[in-house]
Amino acid sequence: MTGARAPTNGIHRPASMTGRALLSPNEVLARALPPMSAEPSTPTPVETRLRDLRPTSSPVELVARVVTSDRREVTRRSDGSRRPVLSGLLSDGTATVRFTWWDPPREGIERGIVLRAVGAEVREFRGRAEVTFGWKTRVGPASPAELPPVDAAEVPFRTVRDLRPGDEGFRIELRVARITPKSVTVGTERRVVHEGLVADRTGSIALSSWSDFGLRAGEAVRIAGGYVRAFRGRPQIVLDESSIVVRIEGADLPEPAQLLASPPRSIAEVEDEGGGEAVAVEGLVVGLLPPSGIVFRCPTCQRTVRSGICRVHGQVEGRADLRARIVLDDGTGALTINANRADTERLWGVTLEEAEARLRSQPDPTLIEEQMLESLLGRRLRVRGAGTRDDFGVTLTPESIERVDIDLDAAAEELTLRLGGSR
Ligand SMILES: [Zn+2]
Repeated sequence: MTGARAPTNGIHRPASMTGRALLSPNEVLARALPPMSAEPSTPTPVETRLRDLRPTSSPVELVARVVTSDRREVTRRSDGSRRPVLSGLLSDGTATVRFTWWDPPREGIERGIVLRAVGAEVREFRGRAEVTFGWKTRVGPASPAELPPVDAAEVPFRTVRDLRPGDEGFRIELRVARITPKSVTVGTERRVVHEGLVADRTGSIALSSWSDFGLRAGEAVRIAGGYVRAFRGRPQIVLDESSIVVRIEGADLPEPAQLLASPPRSIAEVEDEGGGEAVAVEGLVVGLLPPSGIVFRCPTCQRTVRSGICRVHGQVEGRADLRARIVLDDGTGALTINANRADTERLWGVTLEEAEARLRSQPDPTLIEEQMLESLLGRRLRVRGAGTRDDFGVTLTPESIERVDIDLDAAAEELTLRLGGSR
């Protein structure tokens, strides 16, 4: 049977499937896929929860939600023809697994829909189970009610410190330190994702929720049915429609003010941890990195314009902006702070308009950068924000930058007292 498609088992899209504007993804899929036949040709597969999937020679039946899907085409080595394949993640609340779907329907398989697959193959890749839908697999739409009930009491408790990308099937109790809705484009669709910062006593982690649970800063919640993924090199908890969020008392959880006002840590420590969601550091300004000073931005995409050219939009009339990429050193290490216009104006004490006026009278942008450096060099700053690490070290996107004025007399007095007390 290799290569031959059994017409009764393969998925065929009726020709009437063109006008679909008013249908929900599940309705589209319901029309795109024929109802599953009542008499399976092979022994009835056992419905398996994703958490219990093991590589096996006998096909399984599963009900799961599409979390992500990517469509591409691969070239057949035999005859050079193109074969469509859909791959992505499936979740049923007990676990998330990768799937590969050969010759999928042309449309209707979107993020969020629930599928029932009968006769899926389970393989192992890098120690994790994956499912494959081939020509023998029958896939049809299912209702979210058919997903296996997640008994939150069955899954183990975790703490933030234990979480690793790829984790799922856990419960966790968290304080919401901040949460903001953000509109994003997914494919051709606008969606709202609720992004924020959550924490327990062991640490803080970013949260990204594709479903609106009405979360508010300050609330304590118990979460089940989420998973952890890496985003820009940092782990984050992802919630969707199948996640469960319950409000709790949360007496053991840190208060938001505590979280957002954690004491500064050494830059070496922040570097070792690869940054963090709520990093606080304190150090001296030892330099500026280019581009600092007046920069010109594309009015469409805000990218920095070089010689009047945006690398996406070509020749544009750049808009002036002020920024400082500050190198902060605390004796254990250094990191870069990307200060925006408002922070730069406040720290430097020069507005964008004033800087532009200077540039007109001394048309050399490097002079502006030098004047800025002269004013900032050696200042002590306390900075809080989200830090990410790449090959060049840690970069902090600040939420707050405070100038720390050192009272030399008080510091000397304190030092004397300490030295005196230890003798
Ligand atoms: Zn642009």
